[in-house]
Amino acid sequence: MKELTHWINGRHVKGTSGRFADVMNPATGEVQARVPLATVAELDAAVAEAAKAQVAWGATNPQRRARVMMKFADLINQNMDKLAECVSREHGKTLPDARGDVQRGLEVVEVCMGAPHLLKGEYINDGGPGIDLYSMRQPLGVVAGITPFNFPAMIPLWKMAPALSAGNAMILKPSERCPSTSLMLAELLKEAGLPDGVLQVVNGDKESVDAILDNEVIQAVGFVGSTPIAQYIYGRAATNGKRAQCFGGAKNHMIIMPDADLDKAADALVGAGFGAAGERCMAISVAVPVGKKTADALIERLVPRIEKLKVGPYTAGADVDYGPLITKQAMERVKGLITSGVDQGATLVTDGRDFRLQGYENGYFVGPTLFDNVTPEMDIYKQEIFGPVLSQVRAGSYDEALKLTMDNPYGNGTSIFTADGDTARDFASRVNVGMVGINFPIPVPLSYFSFGGWKKSAFGDLNQYGPDAFRFYTKTKTVTARWFSGIKEGGEFHFKAMD
Ligand code: NAD
Repeated sequence: MKELTHWINGRHVKGTSGRFADVMNPATGEVQARVPLATVAELDAAVAEAAKAQVAWGATNPQRRARVMMKFADLINQNMDKLAECVSREHGKTLPDARGDVQRGLEVVEVCMGAPHLLKGEYINDGGPGIDLYSMRQPLGVVAGITPFNFPAMIPLWKMAPALSAGNAMILKPSERCPSTSLMLAELLKEAGLPDGVLQVVNGDKESVDAILDNEVIQAVGFVGSTPIAQYIYGRAATNGKRAQCFGGAKNHMIIMPDADLDKAADALVGAGFGAAGERCMAISVAVPVGKKTADALIERLVPRIEKLKVGPYTAGADVDYGPLITKQAMERVKGLITSGVDQGATLVTDGRDFRLQGYENGYFVGPTLFDNVTPEMDIYKQEIFGPVLSQVRAGSYDEALKLTMDNPYGNGTSIFTADGDTARDFASRVNVGMVGINFPIPVPLSYFSFGGWKKSAFGDLNQYGPDAFRFYTKTKTVTARWFSGIKEGGEFHFKAMD
């Protein structure tokens, strides 16, 4: 059995707790490795070493730190296939999807090559007579990143690239279900020139997360995962005086207006609803067609597209559309929710519960599932399913569709398909959701903007990556200065007379 490690002070280190989590192959249901779960003492020791390493790294000039990011980006590109394979092996997503996972993280590393610009402060000359004011952005010290299973490359990169290039040391606690990609990224960062100790990858579960939250040296926590855990981490980190940004779950709605290009809308829904088996925080899980005609026409277009989807292991080749869910429990939960939808009166149009794949009978596969006539009281509407299940909620008007989206407690992403610019403008300006697509199903902002939801999809301040990440991972110091060597009169400076 392969035993994974932590990454401490620039090398692989075995766990000492004696506790492990199984890392599964979700396509076969077999254990493929085990990952050590750190104790409080292991976590605290990693933090103490990181604090030592941060002193010199924080004092390294930003351009040199940016050069490490340049080399890192090169190495990610060179190792793209290996990284993607590592993602697919533990997560189960297809290789093209896994490459996308690495690519979207890489783009954040590329923005961090410009860290010196993003770290510049502000300055005013003569804010008062002979008085100058300037502000500087300084690293926080040791910060932590806690990441989910569903993007094993992208989200660790969203955390580490801005934090490190801003001069911090980072404790990264990746998901115990998909830990290997973070270890591989740590190796590449070392090769890129990151000094030992500046990035520590500590594997673990709740025990190490709580140790992070209670450790007095750690100054900030960047978390991504489900909403209940995000809220818990935000509360405990804030109580302990830490800066925290905690991104949670989602229930993303796509409104389809009667004037929309329905073929394009159906294509978009199939990609955004079923891609990566629906295990994306930006997946569209609710389609909201406006008007009966639109709803009927949409179902007519969705069904043949869904029937063509090929579900299988990532090893089966390029024509696989999506893979298994992450765990047996996730698969059973999703199937249970589908049954609850039937019991609560939704119309089951396509049913993925009985999906079987020869040779992979123990894999965690669920076939693509489409519901029509879903209503807001049903569990399939209220819960984030995080599986290949698309629910159609019919709306009588644009206002009704907008209200449905706005009343939903989550606010990560949303989208509208329409040919009318005014409707789209109105939607974008009024909807209370953090990321909006117009004829775009998954509006993940490019890396030089920033990513973040509203309502129960995010707790704390500032978004991930882009300029916001540099605000989150630095503190501002403002200096007010004057000098007494001369006087300024009538706009001219005169030295004091010398004796
Ligand atoms: P999760 O909340 O189960 O786990 C996330 C992290 O928290 C992991 O590192 C895990 O070890 C840790 N954790 C789990 N339970 C904990 C506990 N009780 N106490 C302390 N730490 C704990 O999430 P997941 O299943 O890995 O990821 C899927 C979720 O993440 C979905 O809800 C998805 O929408 C969300 N997500 C959100 C975003 C975003 O940016 N908003 C992005 C990706 C995923």
